[in-house]
Amino acid sequence: MAETFPALLISRDEEKKQSVNRVTMTPDELMEGDTLVRVSHSTLNYKDALAVTGKAPVVRRWPMIPGIDLAGEVVSCESGAFAEGDPVLLNGWGLGETHYGAYAGMARVKADWLIRRPDALTAAETMAVGTAGYTAMLCILALERHRITPERGPIVVTGASGGVGSVATAILGKLGYHVIASTGRTEEEDYLKGLGAAEIIDRKELSEPGKALGKERWAGGIDSVGSTTLANVLAQTNYGGAVAACGLAGGMDLPASVAPFILRGVSLLGIDSVMAPKKVREEAWARIARDLDRAKLSAMTTTIGFDDVEKAAADLLANKVRGRTVVRIGS
Ligand code: NDP
Repeated sequence: MAETFPALLISRDEEKKQSVNRVTMTPDELMEGDTLVRVSHSTLNYKDALAVTGKAPVVRRWPMIPGIDLAGEVVSCESGAFAEGDPVLLNGWGLGETHYGAYAGMARVKADWLIRRPDALTAAETMAVGTAGYTAMLCILALERHRITPERGPIVVTGASGGVGSVATAILGKLGYHVIASTGRTEEEDYLKGLGAAEIIDRKELSEPGKALGKERWAGGIDSVGSTTLANVLAQTNYGGAVAACGLAGGMDLPASVAPFILRGVSLLGIDSVMAPKKVREEAWARIARDLDRAKLSAMTTTIGFDDVEKAAADLLANKVRGRTVVRIGS
């Protein structure tokens, strides 16, 4: 008899009303791919929350198993790129959007999408990092390529108590940067300082329309909020600085002026994690293994079960979730 496993399936009815159901599946029902993976852990990112709640059109093929990140072990690999039992992880590549995703006991994917799990990280730790944390590392790598070293001045991190923000704060702090954490949850000051923030600012300072050029306050920024916040971050960046933009938690628009670019030589660095090449991913994960303090990762992580995903997704969009959430899938 074929092996069965539990999965979360998002479906739509004729009126396009979305429902999320726990179902039982067999490997034969999975989508095409050369590699079968037994999933042990996944995670809840902002994009997963949008998919599960249906608040934005993340899912582009119906029905869909959501979950954009997985960690687990290879069951079989037709291409020979991996052997049975190899520990692997996967971030993005359309998982949970166009290809059946991680909230299932098994996933069939392309071997090219998988990377070998770094020896120094457990499967649970890689999912505590997840796409949010791997994107935070992509932002840091982009700032480093722009020669934004700790000596150049502070780094502002927006959405600091969220997933991207928490991991960015912890890694930047360990690397010796002076981190200015911008948050709407100023009651999380102790949490953010524990992760590595040197200063906390209220996100209201950045969320109202501001001047085209403000007082220079930081050498760089990591922004997961977008909109007016990103415009203000740019306007307050030091001469020659750079801002890595990866998110839209506050809006997809960018009501900015070109003044920071043409008068201060400020650079805006765009960050995409979903289609990033394998080499870039491997570099980011090697740096995460080296530069992320495990105790800090643990302090920012909550673990939930399969049945808690829907509630946690709604909570995340209501700004009630701090740090990162791991979803336990298999044993
Ligand atoms: P979280 O929900 O965990 O964190 C987002 C944080 O942004 C919140 O915790 C909150 O921080 C802040 N925030 C939320 N709403 C608003 C608002 N209206 N105005 C200002 N600040 C707000 O999400 P993630 O960290 O997982 O993701 C953050 C963003 O990054 C998302 O937009 C996501 O889509 C994007 N992203 C992009 C990727 C890419 O490849 N480019 C990959 C991963 C994520 P606080 O309470 O501290 O103010």
